[in-house]
Amino acid sequence: MSSENLRNLYQQVILEHYKKPRHRGKTSPVHRHQRGHNPSCGDTIDLTVQLDPEGDHIEDVKFEGEGCAISISSADLMADAMRGKSIAEALEMIQRFQTMMKGEAEFPKEMRKLNVMQGVAQFPVRIKCATLTWHTLKAALESRDSLTSQYVTKE
Ligand code: ZN
Repeated sequence: MSSENLRNLYQQVILEHYKKPRHRGKTSPVHRHQRGHNPSCGDTIDLTVQLDPEGDHIEDVKFEGEGCAISISSADLMADAMRGKSIAEALEMIQRFQTMMKGEAEFPKEMRKLNVMQGVAQFPVRIKCATLTWHTLKAALESRDSLTSQYVTKE
C-alpha cells in the first residue's frame, strides 16, 4: 500500500471508530477488569473481558473511559479483533501489535484492519495512545482475578 493511501485509510478508520465505537460499555459478566492510563496524553481506558466457561477464550471485550481519537479507535479495533480468540492467540496479537508499532510486523489479511494503526508510527509521541489498550488487555489477561488494577504507560 502506498504511504498516501495508508495515511488516508488510517485517518478514515480512526475517525470512524472514534465517533461510533461499537464496543463501548461493560461486558456481562465481567471476568477481567483492568484500567489503563497514559499520562503523557491523558487517556484512561477501563477494559472489561468476558471469557468462555473454560476460561481460555475471549467471548467479549468492552471499554469505557476517555481518551484521544487514537486511543479510543485502537480500543475499538482491538475489541473487534479479539472476539472468539484464545488467550494464547490474544497474547500473540498483542505482541504483534507492539512489534508492528516499531515497524517490524504486520497482521495477516483477515486482521488487516489493524494494520492501519501503523499510521500512528509517524507520530512517535502518539504511539502510547495506540498501544495503551493492548498493554491493558495483556495485564487483564495475565491477572488471576477480576480485581481492578491499573496499567500505566512508562516513559
Ligand atoms: Zn492519546
